[in-house]
Amino acid sequence: MQPQGRPWARPSADVLENARERFSRLLGAEGVQAEGPLFAEFHDPFEGPDAVGHQPSLVVQPASVEEVQAVLKLATELGVHLWTSSMGRNFGYGGSAPVVDGGVVLNLRRMNRVLEIDVAQGYALIEPGVSFAQLYDALREQDAPLMMSVPDLGWGSIIGNALEHGYGYNVMGDHASAICGMEAVLADGTLLRTGQGALPGSPLWACHRRGYGPSLDSLFMQSNFGVVTKAGLWLMPRPEIFATGTITCQGENDIAPLVDMIRGLLREGVLQGVPMIVGSPDDVDGEEG
Ligand SMILES: Cc1cc2nc3c(=O)[nH]c(=O)nc-3n(C[C@H](O)[C@H](O)[C@H](O)COP(=O)(O)OP(=O)(O)OC[C@H]3O[C@@H](n4cnc5c(N)ncnc54)[C@H](O)[C@@H]3O)c2cc1C
Repeated sequence: MQPQGRPWARPSADVLENARERFSRLLGAEGVQAEGPLFAEFHDPFEGPDAVGHQPSLVVQPASVEEVQAVLKLATELGVHLWTSSMGRNFGYGGSAPVVDGGVVLNLRRMNRVLEIDVAQGYALIEPGVSFAQLYDALREQDAPLMMSVPDLGWGSIIGNALEHGYGYNVMGDHASAICGMEAVLADGTLLRTGQGALPGSPLWACHRRGYGPSLDSLFMQSNFGVVTKAGLWLMPRPEIFATGTITCQGENDIAPLVDMIRGLLREGVLQGVPMIVGSPDDVDGEEG
């Protein structure tokens, strides 16, 4: 069933009340938030005190793939909009606030298991609620000779960040490219595994990206075609040493030559990580840095 009226309209109070009751029956009280401090986390933290629009009506937090499938089927039946997040901390980009006012936030924080760390093949199989900090701890706990890439903030979801084309700085810093094999739930509740994962029990799911026919992984990145419930993540061997470097430009005129220089070093393989050019509001010798 499609939402009534304008496709982007806030659902009516009756529809939302019914949705709250039905989602609560499905997930229990623990899986549905409609008020309180946890619910408040799913607003845009930078929206300001008088914000209108983009307000969630409910937050639903399934704890298993089967519950995600059931949530999607129920949302379709009720005609409510879902807005998916993994950790829901995409701060600076709207946080977990839904595009459609009154949308139901489908948040996957409760699905937070590191399902597998394969040291020999160099990958981890993770759920969407696994944060960068959590995987780091899991790798250190078993003293795995593996290194992961992290963005500036460690509390984000690895899967959420990769699906949004996030970046870190080391060799695996293009996070979308470090994903190999996904499991996604489609709008009608169908479960789909990409690549070699289409073969039941395939040991190559998180190792070999190509399957038979077209590769589907990118369909689920920066899109709303499915809810990703698992992904393989490639990790690099932990190096004996690594070095980072910083170059400070004194003025705007230095930036174009810097880009040319970095391009050359990248193409020659001298720079192996992801270089980042950032501006600073600090006044450097009277110029904007
Ligand atoms: C100070 C600061 C520094 C930052 N530094 C960096 C940085 O260095 N690198 C960087 O990449 N980002 C950076 N960010 C941006 C952002 O905070 C991170 O990318 C963060 O990891 C995203 O939050 P999240 O993982 O909780 O994403 P989520 O909010 O969980 O997800 C983001 C979006 O991805 C989609 N999505 C998430 N999960 C799923 C799923 N399971 N299925 C389908 N779609 C899904 C949804 O559209 C969702 O809105 C920074 C932000 C700030 C404020």
